[in-house]
Amino acid sequence: MNSNVLIVGAGPVGLVSACLLVDEGIPVTVIESCPDLPRDLRASTFHPPTLDMLERFDVVSSMIAQGLICPTWQFRDRAEGVVATFELDRLRDETAHPYRLQCEQWRLGEMLLERLKTNPLATIRFGVKAASVRQAGEQAIVEAVNEAGETETFSGAFCIGADGIGSVARKAIGAGFDGMTIPEIYLTISTTYDFSKSMPDISNIAYLSDPQEWFVLIRTVNVWRALFPVDPTLSDEQVTSPELAEKLLQGAAARPEAYEVRHRTAYRVHERVASTYFSGRLAIAGDAAHVNNPLGGMGLNGGIHDAYNLASTIVEIMRGAPLELLGRYERQRRKVALDVVQQTTLRNRAILNTRDPAARAAYYDDLRRTVADPVLHKDYLMRTSMISSLRDVARIA
Ligand SMILES: Cc1cc2nc3c(=O)[nH]c(=O)nc-3n(C[C@H](O)[C@H](O)[C@H](O)COP(=O)(O)OP(=O)(O)OC[C@H]3O[C@@H](n4cnc5c(N)ncnc54)[C@H](O)[C@@H]3O)c2cc1C
Repeated sequence: MNSNVLIVGAGPVGLVSACLLVDEGIPVTVIESCPDLPRDLRASTFHPPTLDMLERFDVVSSMIAQGLICPTWQFRDRAEGVVATFELDRLRDETAHPYRLQCEQWRLGEMLLERLKTNPLATIRFGVKAASVRQAGEQAIVEAVNEAGETETFSGAFCIGADGIGSVARKAIGAGFDGMTIPEIYLTISTTYDFSKSMPDISNIAYLSDPQEWFVLIRTVNVWRALFPVDPTLSDEQVTSPELAEKLLQGAAARPEAYEVRHRTAYRVHERVASTYFSGRLAIAGDAAHVNNPLGGMGLNGGIHDAYNLASTIVEIMRGAPLELLGRYERQRRKVALDVVQQTTLRNRAILNTRDPAARAAYYDDLRRTVADPVLHKDYLMRTSMISSLRDVARIA
């Protein structure tokens, strides 16, 4: 039997899958449509169990050196200030990394790619776009088009579709992708201004609730990233205009000077989970399988947890376990996407933008009660840092 695993997509999920497989002695071919790894502004939050998983690739110390350790995070009311500050050190008996790490996802991608380049079991093909994925007998087949416009056919024992939201692999396995599109556009603006000058008690990660306009502030090593919901009826030019960025940032913290803005990225956000995660020897993971809003930093982390589970499952199958074991991968990871990631991120959005004063007060009371009680505080952190979901689903056969 062909012992090669095909991976479509060199995002964080594809690269983590590739590293795990080559470390187990399994050759991989990664097929990536972009000419190289993009350095665009996407996720930057790494949760404790994700860092625990990434330790085996010897990249975490470099991520920490390039990133920012965040020991606390907050819910704030835009007008009243701190509602609840969560202290991740309460997880010190549960993880080797009791903090959130802010480190742009492209940094991880580059580290993993460097690691793969030195491993003869890894073949990475940039500039090759998968056009179709299918299974023929016991082979997974990917037909792709290279930069010269030529069609290339790849075959392997399995195909991991880590090809993001528009996944070709998801369509190939016949999965639906039900859910919703969030009405507002999300605009991320990064600025050199230090928001702790305006809000001295702010954590490095803060969710600021407001009935008119909520926002999120996240500090990285060089900049603060501010995320705002934006009116979807605005044109693309208006959404990414310097004027809108300045207006939103001045609203967040008024200053006599103009803000120095480094990046602006606008994107549509969906809440969707694939109806199935595999068919035969074809499986999907990460954004190809589930997408959600970024409020809680669960998309990237959940995707890496998928990659870890799926690649480990494929290793087991290649060593003699039945192919049906992919069903366990789907039962475990689809449950997390539906019951944990989607529920948590939607609740975070509700806390941030609820207009009804009574509902806001109830959310705030609940958060205050949670941080004041050591048991509830730790339990909340176990869930929001995604430790509980990993442990809970490990019991599902
Ligand atoms: C603009 C933006 C901002 C975001 N901000 C946040 C955030 O603040 N917080 C957060 O938690 N999450 C955020 N996310 C989501 C987060 O980035 C994703 O959850 C994460 O990247 C998922 O990783 P992935 O490897 O599954 O998919 P991706 O990172 O999307 O990687 C998929 C890869 O597959 C490649 N590919 C696609 N189709 C093909 C094909 N046919 N053939 C070959 N290659 C293909 C793509 O080029 C890409 O490199 C953001 C996403 C976007 C788009």
